Amino acid sequence: MTYPDTRLFIDGQWQDAQEGRTLAVFNPASGQEIGRVAHAGIADLDRALASAQKGFDTWRAMAAVERARIMRRAAALMRERADAIGILLTQEQGKPLLEARGEAVAAADIIEWFADEGQRVYGRIVPARNPAVQQWVLKDPVGVVAAFTPWNFPINQVVRKLGAALAAGCAVIVKAPEETPASPAELVRAFADAGVPVGVLNLVYGNPAEISSYLIAHPVVKKVTFTGSTVVGKQLAALAGQHMKRVTMELGGHAPVIVCQDADVALAVKAVAGAKFRNAGQVCIAPTRFLVHESLRAEFVAALTRHAEGLKVGDGLQEGTRMGPLANARRVQAMQGFMADARAQGAKVTTGGELLPGPGHFFAPTVLDDVPLSARVFNDEPFGPVAAVRGFTQLDEAIAEANRLPYGLAAYAFTRSLKDAHQLAQRVEVGMLWINQPATPSAELPFGGLKDSGYGSEGGPEALEACLNTRAISITPV
Ligand code: NAD
Repeated sequence: MTYPDTRLFIDGQWQDAQEGRTLAVFNPASGQEIGRVAHAGIADLDRALASAQKGFDTWRAMAAVERARIMRRAAALMRERADAIGILLTQEQGKPLLEARGEAVAAADIIEWFADEGQRVYGRIVPARNPAVQQWVLKDPVGVVAAFTPWNFPINQVVRKLGAALAAGCAVIVKAPEETPASPAELVRAFADAGVPVGVLNLVYGNPAEISSYLIAHPVVKKVTFTGSTVVGKQLAALAGQHMKRVTMELGGHAPVIVCQDADVALAVKAVAGAKFRNAGQVCIAPTRFLVHESLRAEFVAALTRHAEGLKVGDGLQEGTRMGPLANARRVQAMQGFMADARAQGAKVTTGGELLPGPGHFFAPTVLDDVPLSARVFNDEPFGPVAAVRGFTQLDEAIAEANRLPYGLAAYAFTRSLKDAHQLAQRVEVGMLWINQPATPSAELPFGGLKDSGYGSEGGPEALEACLNTRAISITPV
């Protein structure tokens, strides 16, 4: 399938940027330019804002059940088109086709869940102190939402924001990732083809800082939602604060994996190895700091190393590829920096640690053992295919290490002790903790972090709540 050029979607029309500017899109498996994406200017943003305002008026006036019907049609289209969309996603982002197709199918599931949940946005009747008075609590859509999403899950990061916002009755302007533009455009196309009214959904690309500073400050935008790095998230949250905009921030993580003395090692390796190398480790909830009880460390490291060595690394479109390239050259540089630092600090490389011969940004699945706490890989989010392992002897020590960093997104733990599982559940400071299992984020569960990993949630009823205003009305009959 030929990779397409991607255009903006404004006021119900696919269109070039008014000034005709475009940006190049590269395939990370070949390093070759494969297409172009339209680069919006301020005039395009102004049209998107005006259109979104009108779209909001139309969408909020529709019955929730009708909005749900349209969303369900979009979900069905995503399922129907998943094979073709997967191919686009692999070409622009690098992940293996199976993962790419899976992301398109998962989008359908997320849309359906939010479509249903949107029909359960209830207010309340609160008994008044004066029985003659009626007191209502009403929930209304917050308005136009500006959504900013990254390149690691080009569809998933958009659909979590769209699903919640559209189900709540909001209109959305999405600034999707310039590096991986075609697959999120297919998501938007599914909604457009499903009959979402003109203006409800607008899609732009361009200079991220220029677009976010313009949209966040603009009075039409009432809510800001961002997924990406903590550094950028703090900038956008500060800007949103200046303009008193509602905010959801899904930022970086550095997920600890605590393997307790009584853990089932085979289960632990199976559960976290897949998650570690999925999408070449470029996942905000990827396991990154492996804290393994000293009595199990050698066995754990050997099994994880075998897993890493068995992964076929290559072009995601090729049959049998289990791990694709890093998504861009910045990740290659970052991985090389992490490796140089870890080696210099005495970590033991049990496998990988090297850039693989090009073209393309291929990095070997890597396992590091005996990593000092001072190593950068144990402090900064690696966002790449590296598992860094350290030993521990007391659970308290592992919990303290898990909580040491400012991140608080996800964590994993393995133990057969119910007592320790409860300890971990109560004391590990993260938004999501998986015990004795791989990560299973689903639309019905809250998805979000604590501390520097952000605030707000992109799953469960909490995600809808974040797109709603709450108002109290009291009526005294006269
Ligand atoms: P980055 O921090 O420059 O960008 C991260 C994302 O934010 C990109 O999609 C980018 O387009 C967007 N962005 C950057 N500046 C922006 C702005 N002013 N306004 C709006 N959007 C803006 O870095 P990067 O090289 O793309 O990624 C590096 C780091 O970002 C990774 O190490 C990882 O920590 C983090 N990241 C996190 C996620 C996640 O799922 N939470 C996804 C992608 C990247």
